[in-house]
Amino acid sequence: MRKKIVAGNWKMNLTSEEALKLNTAIDTFVAKNEPKCEVIHFSPYIYLNEGINSVESIAIGAQNGYPEKNGAFTGEISMYQLKEIGVRNILIGHSERRQIFKETDAFLKSKVDAATNLDLTIFFCCGETISQRENGKHVATVITQLENSIFHLSEEQFKNVVIAYEPIWAIGTGKTASPAQANEMHQAIRAAIQKNYNAEIAKKTSIIYGGSCKPTNASELFHQSDIDGGLIGGASLKSEDFMSIISTYK
Ligand code: PGA
Repeated sequence: MRKKIVAGNWKMNLTSEEALKLNTAIDTFVAKNEPKCEVIHFSPYIYLNEGINSVESIAIGAQNGYPEKNGAFTGEISMYQLKEIGVRNILIGHSERRQIFKETDAFLKSKVDAATNLDLTIFFCCGETISQRENGKHVATVITQLENSIFHLSEEQFKNVVIAYEPIWAIGTGKTASPAQANEMHQAIRAAIQKNYNAEIAKKTSIIYGGSCKPTNASELFHQSDIDGGLIGGASLKSEDFMSIISTYK
């Protein structure tokens, strides 16, 4: 059985008080209900330390991290610093990083290498635009993203990778990929992992879905053959909604 994961991507949201409240609420919920999935909050940097020190049953991960160990990079936080305070999971390649902050495949590859050297679990995000999908280029786009930034890892290194498929047209738009559309892409990703590595690794890699995932559609999405959970943006900010999504794996 592959590991199932429900992860919240808080993005640039919440006050420190709200962050602490949400971490505590979800941690208590998970401790009590013992869902059959791993639960992670990808939190803004400034709440990581307190988050890590205040939860026991969920993990707190970082939304980003700079690949250099230290140096003259004003305003950046290195993955080394993140690891030092207890971060074990990191998002790499989110479409907002790619589009707004112009992060290229080559830069993402250097982040993948830095995270791998620190033994962090990488949540590697990939996904196509609406026009790429309409032109029938969605699968090729996503596989190219993987080939350019993460498929160079060795078999051993790839064991620390979770893939998050997030069609850009579904992020924060209320438009979700249909369970069939999402599963088709997850199967294509799994086939590419098998081709690049082997059947065993393909079978074991968790591939999660993100993009307007909410209580009303999580169950159908998560019950698809190749969907192993979700990366949840908006709906992870409301404890009731996030608890309901986590409960898919009760
Ligand atoms: P959303 O965001 O659930 O608000 O669409 C998902 C994400 O960007 O990770």
